[in-house]
Amino acid sequence: MTNHLYDHLLGVRAGEARTFIDVPGAGSIGFDGLHRLAGQVAGALVGMGVQPGDRVALQAEKSPQAVALYLGAVRAGAIFLPLNTGYTPSEIDYFIGNAEPKVFVCDPAKRDALAVSAAAHGARLETLGADGRGSLWETVEASAPDFATVERGADDLAAILYTSGTTGRSKGAMLSHGNLLSNAQVLKDYWRFTDADVLLHALPIYHSHGLFVAINTCLLAGATMIFFPKFDAETVLREMPRATAMMGVPTFYTRLLAAEAFTKDLAGHMRLFISGSAPLLAETHDRFRERTGHAILERYGMTETNMNTSNPYDGERRAGTVGFPLPGVELRVADPESGRILGAGEIGVIEVKGPNVFSGYWRMPEKTAEEFREDGFFITGDLGKVDADGYVTIVGRGKDLVISGGFNVYPKEIEEKIDDLEGVAESAVIGVPHPDFGEGVTAVVVKDGSKDISEDDIAAAIREDLAAFKQPKRIFFVDELPRNTMGKAQKNVLRDRYKDIYE
Ligand code: ATP
Ligand code: MG
Repeated sequence: MTNHLYDHLLGVRAGEARTFIDVPGAGSIGFDGLHRLAGQVAGALVGMGVQPGDRVALQAEKSPQAVALYLGAVRAGAIFLPLNTGYTPSEIDYFIGNAEPKVFVCDPAKRDALAVSAAAHGARLETLGADGRGSLWETVEASAPDFATVERGADDLAAILYTSGTTGRSKGAMLSHGNLLSNAQVLKDYWRFTDADVLLHALPIYHSHGLFVAINTCLLAGATMIFFPKFDAETVLREMPRATAMMGVPTFYTRLLAAEAFTKDLAGHMRLFISGSAPLLAETHDRFRERTGHAILERYGMTETNMNTSNPYDGERRAGTVGFPLPGVELRVADPESGRILGAGEIGVIEVKGPNVFSGYWRMPEKTAEEFREDGFFITGDLGKVDADGYVTIVGRGKDLVISGGFNVYPKEIEEKIDDLEGVAESAVIGVPHPDFGEGVTAVVVKDGSKDISEDDIAAAIREDLAAFKQPKRIFFVDELPRNTMGKAQKNVLRDRYKDIYE
């Protein structure tokens, strides 16, 4: 074995003709085919001057060719750097300037808009379209598949992934071969993936969830993926009868539930539904179970660490929790200021340590130093608790904590009370500047249409259950919460929208 990640994920599958990626209506590619393609990609990249440790950036639509670029870059010893397809050319300019890739592959339609940035930062610009065609592919097709895989060890970087930017500017998380492989091995075993599995893959592949959690786990298990360009309930449901597993963000599950065609029968062949990237409402978990008999398995991870915790495969999958620390992951809850380790049931910041945890933020040594404790634990920035049975619950992000009149208010506690009310689909509780209290607790609510409900109704309904300082001073109604492409509610957008209401 010479290339730690590549050899284990794909190198070992050379010669296996079975299907790895199946794109409904657009053909499929087997393990051996992908291995050969990765060889051609690696050859093409090296021909373009890519050396071990160089970055290869990609902003392109999801396709099997984009997956081959990921694996080909790793095989060539390069660092793969995927970028959100939603980023505008001016945003891309920041990432390309920060990462300085040797090669930047973009969608053919964006070539002209990105040419100046690429040139300014010394990146060679190539194209790859949703159909798998483009200037990159012409070179790839002209390359030989028998590439001599470049040697890389467990500590070498395999990828830099930018965080979702939910709480501020995205940071580039440096992920090593060892980080990615160890997590994939744990997930494959914990979730029991085998070569009999067929995964419904409707996630984007520029994010850790769709790229590493899904693809690496399936590669390692020898499982097949049904690849959708994006999540569309109708298309996913059409393919579900031949699938065994799905990985999704919570909005996938609410959208499946909204489809009448989604029945217990249709899910009959499925063995596992996994959710992550944002909190799954306990109500969604319950409704899903009523409809299908399946308990969605919720897990918790982040770009910097891959997956940290998961509900169990066999034991109780507890709604509203993210389960137990995964094998090899140490997890503790600490007081955010003093760092004092807290006991069962106490809320504090979640800290993790393990082979999954990244080595730092790309070109941000100060930020990296701030986020690690002296004993090597990474401070996630998520607030949570571990109960007496060991289940971990996330109560929100540190940056979303509301401090009103000097008291800590954890949004999730109030959101759960509001979400339980008839007529409410979901809610977000935020803190906005308040002249007397510092921050005023404010609720933003989406109705579900089953009952007309007013600000006073909600205030009255939760009054008995919550201390006065936790009660929202104002409650607003919106048609939907602002979310990013990973289905994460953007509380910063809400805080900005309501920032003047108490002035
Ligand atoms: P940024 O770090 O740039 O602000 P981000 O934290 O949203 O963005 P990601 O790394 O994509 O970027 O997301 C990780 C975060 O997603 C976690 O820190 C956590 O807040 C949230 N998350 C992931 N899974 C869950 C889950 N099951 N329940 C609750 N929150 C989750
Ligand atoms: Mg984050």
